[in-house]
Amino acid sequence: MGARIRFLLLSLALTLLPTAWMLADAKPQPQRKLVLIVHGGEGDLPEKMTPELEKKHQEVLAEALRRGYARLKEGKKGASLDAVEAAIRVLEDSPLFNAGKGAVFTHEGGNELDAAIMEGKDKKAGAVAGVSIIKNPISAARAVMEHSPHVLLIGRGAELFAIKHKLDIVHPDYFWTEQRWKELQDARKKEEKQRGRAGSRQRPEDAPARQRHFGTVGAVALDGDGNLAAGTSTGGMTNKWSGRVGDTPIIGAGTYADNDACAVSCTGWGEYFIRYAVAHDITARVKYTRCSVKEAAEAVINGQLQKAGAEGGAIVLAPTGAFHIVYNPLAGQMSRGYITSGEETPHTAILDKPLPKRE
Ligand code: ASP
Repeated sequence: MGARIRFLLLSLALTLLPTAWMLADAKPQPQRKLVLIVHGGEGDLPEKMTPELEKKHQEVLAEALRRGYARLKEGKKGASLDAVEAAIRVLEDSPLFNAGKGAVFTHEGGNELDAAIMEGKDKKAGAVAGVSIIKNPISAARAVMEHSPHVLLIGRGAELFAIKHKLDIVHPDYFWTEQRWKELQDARKKEEKQRGRAGSRQRPEDAPARQRHFGTVGAVALDGDGNLAAGTSTGGMTNKWSGRVGDTPIIGAGTYADNDACAVSCTGWGEYFIRYAVAHDITARVKYTRCSVKEAAEAVINGQLQKAGAEGGAIVLAPTGAFHIVYNPLAGQMSRGYITSGEETPHTAILDKPLPKRE
């Protein structure tokens, strides 16, 4: 090949190469799926679930989805945690849900709140239990995860930690709401009646009558880096003994996340969720048997748990973006919703109405 031709070929290659690079750059990068799912708890509905109240519930769920999804779209490092925290804060700030502002009362007439958060990549987790002055327990749970060597802080210690980390602190009266107070009075009356039937002597082992509930909140999210996160927040169960801790802040019981399997947030009769390690059981089934999140969640919530006589539900999200929302017939109802990068529209449902596509 003559020197002239070689020179021409080289100049041609030098002209074309940058164009080829530019074209490659301009090719749209495949977008990972973004998914956020929330629940507003299972249980009996508030007495007068009018269409207006139902609409209000759905509006708050939709707002939680929008706020959380905005964090997924921002796409910062840890976006799935940001989304879970942001969504749960909206639900905690609403008196309609049994978490934060709308927390239920203990037998003694106080509010003791529990929350947990977990991420699926390194399996870092944080939780608080039995707190009475932290406005948003989910943020305290995250602070425990990120700024302490511990996983679970309780009571006064958790509150001092929240103060140190400049989280919003409120007077315990902030959590007083008429609806929840009424629910406690109803539970106490029921208890009196039961005691009357059993004879006037109350035995020390008699637990306070368990009142069914509605409104524990939770979220699971998948971000653009493929990381999963899960979080749950609750006031627990109406008329619970002071000092009782439910499944919500127990990692593996009410909350769990593992990038190799799924993220789970639960709601239901906490004592059973602890004993059956429900969130971890669902995760382990997916991880070790490679079954779908639907199969795992159904087997645990509608199988085991129902057989044991416990009401409950869960939201479960796989790293592929596939998800399942389940509650068993004992649960009555579960309010729930989701948003995905497909449509970017929040879908919410309460009562038996199905969600589009997914249920
Ligand atoms: N699981 C919560 C608890 O036992 C209550 C609920 O989900 O409604 O504290």
